[in-house]
Amino acid sequence: MSFEIVTVPCLKDNYAFLVHAGDRTALVDAPEAAPIAEAVRRRGWTIDEIWITHHHGDHIDGVAELRQGAIVRGAAADAHRLPPLDSALGDGDSFDFAGHEVRVMDVSGHTIGHIAYYLPDAKAAFTADSLMALGCGRVFEGTFPQMWDSLSKLAALPEDTIIHSGHEYTEANGRFALTIEPENPALLARIEAIKAARADGQPTVPSRLDEELATNPFLRAGLAEVKMLLNMSDESDAAVFAEIRRRKDSF
Ligand code: ZN
Ligand code: FE
Repeated sequence: MSFEIVTVPCLKDNYAFLVHAGDRTALVDAPEAAPIAEAVRRRGWTIDEIWITHHHGDHIDGVAELRQGAIVRGAAADAHRLPPLDSALGDGDSFDFAGHEVRVMDVSGHTIGHIAYYLPDAKAAFTADSLMALGCGRVFEGTFPQMWDSLSKLAALPEDTIIHSGHEYTEANGRFALTIEPENPALLARIEAIKAARADGQPTVPSRLDEELATNPFLRAGLAEVKMLLNMSDESDAAVFAEIRRRKDSF
């Protein structure tokens, strides 16, 4: 039972993903149609399902052109501002894809109604603009505690879960992460690897949850060592997350 997961660069710095299992293909987000249609065509696949994470145009603008009979899934909470859904989903729902379970997680914060898709059999999560490589999405619609709660749910997945996020922001995220933990050896090593990958034109997405836990400042807000660095030892985890997110917003 093997999966093939293809990363498709779109627009300036977005990623879409193709999940292929058995003879089925799902597309996660559709920033634009052309590069996705080409990636599908080259492999001789057809898009059977489209899984939308959230309503922003850089994740849905290609849906209308690509759907052509595909089952389009997305958050019920966002149905009023998503392309027409064939399957409206909420937190804790699951559905079958080529004989494999796909679990839906509400990860609101960046937007209300942002969902992630988790495939235990593939050890893969599709997190778009919630948990990102070395970062997290800006909190536009939700609250800081809500975003912290969403990230905490993702952080509790198995450590070898592969995190497929929506943007190539990792190098800039690394510069910010260093301002929080300038001496974190795992972070320093990861930043060198990121620089090398980018210099070589390689994507830094997806990443593994265990490397995010070791280096991503937004997942580390609850750690005593991080609280100490910020002089926030007596503050709640969510308050420390909020402080780190605020600093990033003006970085
Ligand atoms: Zn977004
Ligand atoms: Fe986005």
